[in-house]
Amino acid sequence: MSGVTSPLTTAQAQLASAVEILGYSPGLHEMLATPRREMNVAVPLRRDTGEIVMFHGYRVQHNISRGPGKGGLRYAASVDIDEVRALAMWMTWKCAVVDVPYGGAKGGVTIEPSQYSSAELERVTRRYTSEIMPIIGPERDIMASDIGTDEQTMAWVMDTYSVNLGYTIPGVTTGKPFAVGGSLGRATATGRGVVHAAEAALAEDGVTLPEVTAAVQGFGKVGSHAVRWLHEGGARVVAVTDVDGGTRADGGLDVPALLAHRAQGGRVADFPGGTPVSNAELLALDVDLLVPAAVEGVLDETTAAGVKARWVVEGANGPTTPEGDRVLADRGIVVVPDILANAGGVVVSYFEWVQANQAYWWTAEEIADRLALRMRTAYDAVSRTAREQSLSLRDAALTIGVQRVAEAHQIRGLYP
Ligand code: GLU
Repeated sequence: MSGVTSPLTTAQAQLASAVEILGYSPGLHEMLATPRREMNVAVPLRRDTGEIVMFHGYRVQHNISRGPGKGGLRYAASVDIDEVRALAMWMTWKCAVVDVPYGGAKGGVTIEPSQYSSAELERVTRRYTSEIMPIIGPERDIMASDIGTDEQTMAWVMDTYSVNLGYTIPGVTTGKPFAVGGSLGRATATGRGVVHAAEAALAEDGVTLPEVTAAVQGFGKVGSHAVRWLHEGGARVVAVTDVDGGTRADGGLDVPALLAHRAQGGRVADFPGGTPVSNAELLALDVDLLVPAAVEGVLDETTAAGVKARWVVEGANGPTTPEGDRVLADRGIVVVPDILANAGGVVVSYFEWVQANQAYWWTAEEIADRLALRMRTAYDAVSRTAREQSLSLRDAALTIGVQRVAEAHQIRGLYP
């Protein structure tokens, strides 16, 4: 799906744009562009058949000036070091925009998880965790799930880390099952935050959710919950896709039925309550709100030219290339950028880490209220900066994030 622009090229171009607006020196620019620390590990797996196969694993800590590294772990065949670098950089700006006391990090293993048994994935996860043990920890770098990993993966990471140190340390991962120190509301947080961001963007034009139609690309940990919260907020969700394509009903999909269909193992494309729609078609549907919540690079120069939505709210990391961004801006389409729109996940990860470190648990209502407040505060700051400096929401969000990181770096000083 992605065009010629790689995620790292996109991330670097976005940083360059923020640095230009902020007027930073080439030296500071280079410092912000370069990961502080990278670990490249071999991950051998003994398959259930006894055969040995090798994978490559990475953990990149892009920046740790504002606190420990923070970011997900991705399992996909397409993972490479440059993608992990891009994702780690986006985590740095994201954590700064929503003002959680973290730097940015990301991990990845080049494995297609659907091809392996659960026992094999457990061994891969434990071996990868053992290899990167020296650089992770609740004060160093805190992992969460991402594409291809889930709550169970985070429980295995936490267990491997804890067993090696000899006591239980739930703060080394977030997105864990509730039974082992996870937080209420974490599983749905990214999707919920996407909907808070969408509501805030619509409100700037005096529009509310019940007045809009929406299409959502991706029906995983982000998209499925975004669909649910959009529906609960009164929006008419007319199309949903996952990696295999999807389903469309112009009068509005029966979202509870679609969620039930998926919970029973059904593919979105086989949902009986709609007609088939491809991923490319979904991006060009005549809807008010488009939520790309799958992978990087789907809105490039060509696909952006076909977008009919008035608002694009980025649930995925890096779904729009710089060329795509320019086309959307020229066409007057409002883009709520990933580092703001999908930050609800890391916000509740932060709540989970705080709760785990204090061994004191908050109610679902406390979490929902605090997430809504943080998303609202971050959106308002970004929107104000955009208005005051005549910037896109993306440049405004990047400028705020990059500036907070540079400020922490400058106050701390350069060692030695
Ligand atoms: N993988 C998610 C993201 O890209 C979550 C990160 C986290 O909670 O640390 O934002």
